[in-house]
Amino acid sequence: MASGTETTGRTAPSTGSGREPGQQTAPGNAAAAGFEYVGLPYRIVFGQGRLNEVVAEVERLGRSRVLLLASADLAEPGDRVEKLLGSLCVARFDGAAMHTPVAVTEEALTHLREHDADCVVAVGGGSTTGLSKALAARTGVDQIILPTTYAGSEVTPVLGETADGKKTTRSSPAILPETVIYDVELSAGLPVPIAVTSAVNALAHAVEALYSTQANPIVDGWALAAISDIANGLRRLADEPADLEVRSSLLRGAWLGGNCLASVGMALHHKLCHVLGGSFDLPHASTHTVILPHAMAYNAPAAPDAMRRIADALGVPDAPSGVFDLIKQAGGPTTLRGLGLDADALDEAADQATAAPYPNPKPLTRDGILALLTDAWHGNRPTPATSRQ
Ligand code: NAD
Repeated sequence: MASGTETTGRTAPSTGSGREPGQQTAPGNAAAAGFEYVGLPYRIVFGQGRLNEVVAEVERLGRSRVLLLASADLAEPGDRVEKLLGSLCVARFDGAAMHTPVAVTEEALTHLREHDADCVVAVGGGSTTGLSKALAARTGVDQIILPTTYAGSEVTPVLGETADGKKTTRSSPAILPETVIYDVELSAGLPVPIAVTSAVNALAHAVEALYSTQANPIVDGWALAAISDIANGLRRLADEPADLEVRSSLLRGAWLGGNCLASVGMALHHKLCHVLGGSFDLPHASTHTVILPHAMAYNAPAAPDAMRRIADALGVPDAPSGVFDLIKQAGGPTTLRGLGLDADALDEAADQATAAPYPNPKPLTRDGILALLTDAWHGNRPTPATSRQ
């Protein structure tokens, strides 16, 4: 089974320096040593009620024949957008599935071709966005994405696909959507448990950007804003799940976190989640939620400046335990055991995570990673004293 498409610094579609592992400047200190930055060419329309502008956005692209992508278990927002599109919508496909199976993409491609569509409008989470990107990768068709979760995929030029149980990941400018409409009304109904893990997924992109080997001042700014937006949203989410200010905060954080993922290479945390999702079939966003505080604790001694900035953005004295407490208070999962991972799998996961070296603030040791995974399996709260020296 495939994992998420989020990758480490080694394979990320970075627009940054492209340094090889080992050539990096000190993580968290890259700006002092120079950096490279390339902006991504997409258009963002953000705000309440902005989904009503979908027709104007299709016309702005000079398109007139839309294939609408939605999903069967999220029909209502799809219906809403279909109604707004009116005669511009020439076909609708509701079959998007997790991990972007190639067989589903081929089915959607038939609809695209049969109806001579010149634009895809996708309403949904990372899975629906993935299908849209898969169509664009094959045809170059223009994309307008209306996200309903906080995955952040809509602003990255990366696509992960599965066929015959194998996952491949690729990156190209054609994959990056032309336009993203972030309307808070679309994610306002995202159930709290999914919202929490989805938001922590976005938080992880921001955290790892701050100690990325390709860190730069622009991405640092996005990351810090994402961390405070997501923390503010998560702190209020359980008590005020329908509050649009809370949801806006999370959505803005998701966009900023997605930008971080798109712009600089990720590290240990994303690698671990990739292994756990890919080889052990653990759920994408929940795995990010359990692992993040422990990956941070592992890296804390080697990235003190990044951790201090993260702690400041969170308003807590210590970043790894602050993230753990944030997740716990929001009701998110805190144990790999609870996600269904067998304790016997930890050794194999540690082997896989340390098999190929990649940029990370702290060098990976098998014993260190096994200890990290064991803590995550039990759900031990990291503390400054337990951060791995
Ligand atoms: P998803 O799209 O599968 O959605 C998760 C669940 O939430 C689904 O059951 C969906 O129907 C439901 N849902 C979505 N929006 C809802 C809403 N507003 N209200 C109620 N239910 C709703 O998953 P996701 O977490 O959004 O995305 C994860 C996928 O995205 C993974 O496959 C991951 O690999 C991919 N991803 C890719 C990138 C990239 O850059 N390529 C980045 C992040 C994530």
